[in-house]
Amino acid sequence: VMASMAHLQEEKLQLQDELLGLQEKLTARENDELSRSLQLQGQVETLKMKILEQAQEIGRLRSELWGVPNTAGRGSLGTEGTLTWSAGAPRVLQVAAPLMLQAWLQERLSQLQREVEETRAKLAELDLEVQQKTNRLAEVELRLKDSLAERAEEEERLSRRLRDSQETIASLKAQPQHIKYIIKTVEVESAKAKQALCESQSRNQYLQEPGGHQLGVTPWLLSQIMMYEAELERAHGQMLEEMQAMEEEKNHAIEEAFSRAQVEMKAVHENLAGVRTNLLTLQPALRTLTHDYNSLKRQVRDFPLLLQETLRSARAEIGQAIEEVHSTNRELLRKYRRELQLRKKCHNELVRLKGNIRVFGRVRPITKEDGEGPEAANAVTFDADDDAVLHLLHKGKQVSFELDKVFPPQASQKEVFQEVQALVTSCIDGYNVCIFAYGQTGAGKTYTMEGTAANPGINQRALQLLFSEVRAKAADWDYAISVSAVEIYNEALRDLLGKEPQEKLEIKLCPDGSGQLYVPGLTEFRVQSVEDINKVWGDG
Ligand code: ADP
Ligand code: MG
Repeated sequence: VMASMAHLQEEKLQLQDELLGLQEKLTARENDELSRSLQLQGQVETLKMKILEQAQEIGRLRSELWGVPNTAGRGSLGTEGTLTWSAGAPRVLQVAAPLMLQAWLQERLSQLQREVEETRAKLAELDLEVQQKTNRLAEVELRLKDSLAERAEEEERLSRRLRDSQETIASLKAQPQHIKYIIKTVEVESAKAKQALCESQSRNQYLQEPGGHQLGVTPWLLSQIMMYEAELERAHGQMLEEMQAMEEEKNHAIEEAFSRAQVEMKAVHENLAGVRTNLLTLQPALRTLTHDYNSLKRQVRDFPLLLQETLRSARAEIGQAIEEVHSTNRELLRKYRRELQLRKKCHNELVRLKGNIRVFGRVRPITKEDGEGPEAANAVTFDADDDAVLHLLHKGKQVSFELDKVFPPQASQKEVFQEVQALVTSCIDGYNVCIFAYGQTGAGKTYTMEGTAANPGINQRALQLLFSEVRAKAADWDYAISVSAVEIYNEALRDLLGKEPQEKLEIKLCPDGSGQLYVPGLTEFRVQSVEDINKVWGDG
């Protein structure tokens, strides 16, 4: 439609140009006519001058012939000469030629004057005609313009309508039943447009028709007008064709849009069905999600409060637990002290029952050093029912000894230590304890007390026990263990860990009245473990 409009506009401009050309030609023609009439006027003037000259010549000739002064004036010339000179025949012959010339000239003049008059009238008429034609042209142009404008308006309206319709079709894809209605509306609109077009066409026709009939004075002008009209007709026909084409195009576009809309609508329907099923399946999920989300939101909102509450309760629980532990500790400590008390009592009881000094006997097995044969046999026998009795056959006479306990040759280091173990713990409870071995050289004192590295004796085991007991009580008690070593040899007391072992020491009674003995200046080493003690001994 826009293209057609542009084309029409172009056509219109072309027509206007042509009209302008025509007008120019008309003015040129007018000027031509005017110059011709002016030329004619000039000719007339020249002729008049000639006539005047002729008249003067005639007057001169007359005065020469009859002595009549020449009173020649333009008006009296003809009558005077005719009336006066018509009498004498011989003279008439002489003046016949000038008279005939004058008559001819007069006739010619009058003819020329008539012609001038006629030409003038014609010119005026032509002027009028040109004027009329120009007016007519202006009118026709105006109407053409109007009709073109109307047409453009109509086209604009139609295109707008078409656009609206397309938009409506697009927007109403989801409602197919409405499309048909809109198409119908568009069709009705286009019928209306057609009608308007026809009206404007007929108006054009009407406007163009009278041009040829009314005018038609000059064939050239007429042909020009005809040409112009033919041009107009052609333009009109073209316009009609354009309009037809546009109409067809519009119908085609509408049809296409409709079919496309139908196809799209179908696709949209299918999509819609898919979306609907999706929606149906999604709805429960959405519900669950919403529910979950809400509950989560609630939880999140309540979380700080919950956390605070939990922290408070946890703190309270911890506090309570600590309190419980404290009270339990107190209770345990109380029990422990009571237990300690009880043990002390038990120990005292034991000491009372078993006696402060206990004596054990240990018989070592026969060794290679004892030699072989009947001499290499034990001189002691044991009582199977009483482990506290030892029999000795001496010079055929049996002597029995009663001790606190007797260890046979097969007794292990561990068994021996078990008997003295209680004494070690008594030492931790604050009692003075002394374990010593007494016997003949080679009887097994060193073996019993020290033992071997693979099978340690009482010393090592007592120390192991001592330190493990101390470690177990370290939480509640502080123990300081120190080691010193002395030897009594040939009635002399010697410091085995001292720097000068030869120096003689003294044993003295404690001045606090406790009855304890002590050795002033005795070397002492603080020890933390069995290894420390071994080191001390190694250095010694
Ligand atoms: P003492 O120190 O009394 O002079 P020892 O302890 O040196 O005697 O013992 C002498 C020998 O007898 C050593 O070779 C020792 O290994 C051994 N002996 C001592 N008692 C036992 C025993 N109960 N079992 C095995 N061998 C022993
Ligand atoms: Mg020894």
